[in-house]
Amino acid sequence: MNQLRRFELTYLKGIGPKRAELLDQQLGLKTLYDLLHHFPINYLDRSSIYKIKDINGEMPMIQLKGRFVTMNVAGEGAKSRLVALFSDGTGTIEVVWFNRIRKLREMYQIGQEYIIFGKPESFKGRWSMVHPEVDTTTTVGAMQGLRGVYSLTEKLRNAGFSSRVFHTFIQTALATHSNIPDPLPKAILDRYKLMPLPTALTQIHNPTDPESLRQARYRLKFEELFYLQLNIQRYSAKRNKALRGLHFARIGRFFNQFYSECLPFELTGAQKRVIKEIRNDMGSGRQMNRLLQGDVGSGKTLVALLTMLIALDNGTQACLMAPTEILAAQHYDTISKLVAPIGVNVKLLTGSTRKKERDIINQQLLDGSLHILIGTHAVIEDTVQFKNLGFVVIDEQHRFGVMQRSRLWQKNSTPPHMLVMTATPIPRTLAMTVYGDLDVSVIDELPPGRKPITTLLRYDAARMDVYRAIGRQLKEGRQVYIVYPLIKENEKLDLRALEYGYQNIKDNFPSYRVAYVHGKMKPAEKDHQMELFATHQADIMVATTVIEVGVNVPNATVMVIENAERFGLSQLHQLRGRVGRGGDRSYCVLMSKPQISGITRKRLELMTTTTDGFLIAEADLKMRGPGDLEGTMQSGIAIDLKIASLSSDGDIVQIARDAAEDLLDADPALSLPDHRSIANELSALFPRPIDLSRIS
Ligand code: ADP
Ligand code: MG
Repeated sequence: MNQLRRFELTYLKGIGPKRAELLDQQLGLKTLYDLLHHFPINYLDRSSIYKIKDINGEMPMIQLKGRFVTMNVAGEGAKSRLVALFSDGTGTIEVVWFNRIRKLREMYQIGQEYIIFGKPESFKGRWSMVHPEVDTTTTVGAMQGLRGVYSLTEKLRNAGFSSRVFHTFIQTALATHSNIPDPLPKAILDRYKLMPLPTALTQIHNPTDPESLRQARYRLKFEELFYLQLNIQRYSAKRNKALRGLHFARIGRFFNQFYSECLPFELTGAQKRVIKEIRNDMGSGRQMNRLLQGDVGSGKTLVALLTMLIALDNGTQACLMAPTEILAAQHYDTISKLVAPIGVNVKLLTGSTRKKERDIINQQLLDGSLHILIGTHAVIEDTVQFKNLGFVVIDEQHRFGVMQRSRLWQKNSTPPHMLVMTATPIPRTLAMTVYGDLDVSVIDELPPGRKPITTLLRYDAARMDVYRAIGRQLKEGRQVYIVYPLIKENEKLDLRALEYGYQNIKDNFPSYRVAYVHGKMKPAEKDHQMELFATHQADIMVATTVIEVGVNVPNATVMVIENAERFGLSQLHQLRGRVGRGGDRSYCVLMSKPQISGITRKRLELMTTTTDGFLIAEADLKMRGPGDLEGTMQSGIAIDLKIASLSSDGDIVQIARDAAEDLLDADPALSLPDHRSIANELSALFPRPIDLSRIS
């Protein structure tokens, strides 16, 4: 395989430096490996030849075999064209060319047998074909069977790279490199019934029949997912025997006293179950790495707090990390109030913590008198040192990558237990791929007494109706969120939309107080504005998605999302979760411009029919692909799959995961001779592996 990676495309017959540069620039194809892994998006069927008498209007591109009976130039100047009549004995079809007329007229002979390939169209009552591919019965050889169709760019097509030309280069590449070594050893090929790589590459581009194509795709999908799994699993904490865990044997004063005296509500069944799972992990002697999934509002914070108290009961400190200052501050407020009666020392550390406070925190962390540290990324910094950090909770996982998690492991001689909490419900296949190294717990039950949220889709024309409805809620003393998209590529424009919206809201609701938050604000100002809303000194919050995660204002009952068509479903779901947190009936209004595609409309309509986060996440994955699913890109593993699909190849994900586990069980370092080529592939595909030993 490595030989394909070393072979630059410029040296492939017929390509040369200019075309090579274009392929690199347009599609990122640099080497023969890249070329062969630019898989077809579709296939043309050249396996059968049709009769002209059988042509009907429904046909895609088809092949006909026959002869030209006439061929004439028609029209003048720019309108000139070459028109031929093609007959196969069962009927005739008109064939028309608009370019390269003279050349083609010389090339094609009347009376000689050709195979023409194109889409038949009905024109003024007779069949015609425009710009078909024409082959003599001898040159057609390589074109038989199913032939790949490739996604190419406009620029490439203008430079003469038609799908067919592209295919020809692939054929050349395969012909001149017929002995491609297979990185997977025979044992694996046999065990998982995989087609050998050279065959799979030949078949994927030029399948002889649908069954061979299926097998080729299976092999290539398996391989892609297999490497992905190997990469996740080989560095995973689960596998690393060195990461023996702290043994939390007991539940003590902190937990018990809190549970009996301070618990604000009866825990839900799901909360109890999850706390038990975490407790079992922490008592097992193994380091815990657990992902806690729970829909927005399912009560993850309380689970975090109770399990942190177990850590305190076992003589260690705990740390809770949140993705934003607002969220960290909110956790700090909630938690410090809850634990005040039992004498737990909690402090908040963020980027805007003053030096004086910082010094106190650092001192107390070192002497062990600080029990729980809550903060943002600031807690990762090397200057933050604990006396004995036993438990780390990361809220809203998707903002943190694997690297950041592992930096927290390093903060104690025995790595602390790690609980990662996310409100982004992640479909199973994706969870296995992105968080392959985590065990998963799920809170699948909301606290009792929640009123359902009514979700409405409204187009801009209905804005005044929406405002009237908002007015009614405000009059009842409720609060309202109005959220604008903020998309990086066009920050200026988005900010302007937000400012315009803010002004507009102030004009429409002159007697209400409006707060205002966006990502470009100074943290102190942001906090101040949030505080205004949280304490009901503001009635309306106009914001970008910075308020998306975790903010808890139970009196807010309306969430208006502007330009909802620009959000992902999972993101909409997160935003919607900001309301419906109190006892009052809540509303989420998705505002959209009327001109949206059918699929966008379908997505938005789905939001109005369900509040099931998992269903929404699955749908998001199916409709938009994993690259867009909120969080996957920030997770530290960019998922850029060439052939496998996380939404439809769940079964192969599972098989590849087990296969990777088996292989690593047998040969953890992939050092056996049979596995060296797999190790080489891995380092080529993932050049900067997550190597814990090198993280300081
Ligand atoms: P999330 O899982 O989204 O982080 P929170 O932990 O913020 O959810 O909890 C959402 C709300 O539900 C909070 O106001 C919290 O006090 C409340 N809550 C949590 N657990 C329970 C429970 N068992 N019964 C009633 N309310 C609860
Ligand atoms: Mg939360």
